[in-house]
Amino acid sequence: MQGEDRWADIREMNDRLIACERCPRLVEFRKAVVGRDKRFRGETYWARPVPGYGDINGRLLIVGLAPAASGGNRTGRVFTGDKSSDFLVSCLHEAGITNQPTSERRDDGLIYYDAYITAAVKCVPPDNKPLPEEIENCSVYLRSEIGFMKNLKVILVLGQIALQAVVRLIADPAEPRSRYRFVHGAVYSMNGIRVVCSYHPSPRNVNTGKLKRSDFVDLLKKVKEMALE
Ligand code: SF4
Repeated sequence: MQGEDRWADIREMNDRLIACERCPRLVEFRKAVVGRDKRFRGETYWARPVPGYGDINGRLLIVGLAPAASGGNRTGRVFTGDKSSDFLVSCLHEAGITNQPTSERRDDGLIYYDAYITAAVKCVPPDNKPLPEEIENCSVYLRSEIGFMKNLKVILVLGQIALQAVVRLIADPAEPRSRYRFVHGAVYSMNGIRVVCSYHPSPRNVNTGKLKRSDFVDLLKKVKEMALE
């Protein structure tokens, strides 16, 4: 698998990405979920791989797990149009990382300041659980996104799978993988980039109080400061 030298820039990569059919299970599933949520029945779904969004020249990269069935897979923009996006983007706004507290549609004017957001897996997986080979297949895109971010200083990983995906791409292969345990708030240094761990802003983590809004906003402010150092 080649890295970021495969495409000239992020636009060229995304043109290729949105036509990707490398994972047969996910190609089928991203279409099978169209209209399953009755709130959006009749709406035209994106139902393709979902590109990252934001400032590719930014210093901060945010990496989630994968698009949601009625979120990114419906709207065509990562962390857009579902409950996780509502929580995440309102917190990002409070921390000064976005221009607005909502993320509803691709044409809603959302701007990320000095930051780019993507997912480890670009297609919606059943039960939010991508298979190891699907994560591996999709790593070519995440690797390229990281390669295109020439000013990158900090990566915020949302959940354990995102951490593992980033570790595989940028950690020193000589270091044991067990060194990078997922602990909310943990900060690791990998090849000059600081990697910060956070629970994923899923409704389950938010509704159970595992991820509290005030703690998450504090972490986002810390991440923003780290990117400016
Ligand atoms: S998950 Fe990634 S590699 Fe697999 S089909 Fe979607 S875009 Fe392609």
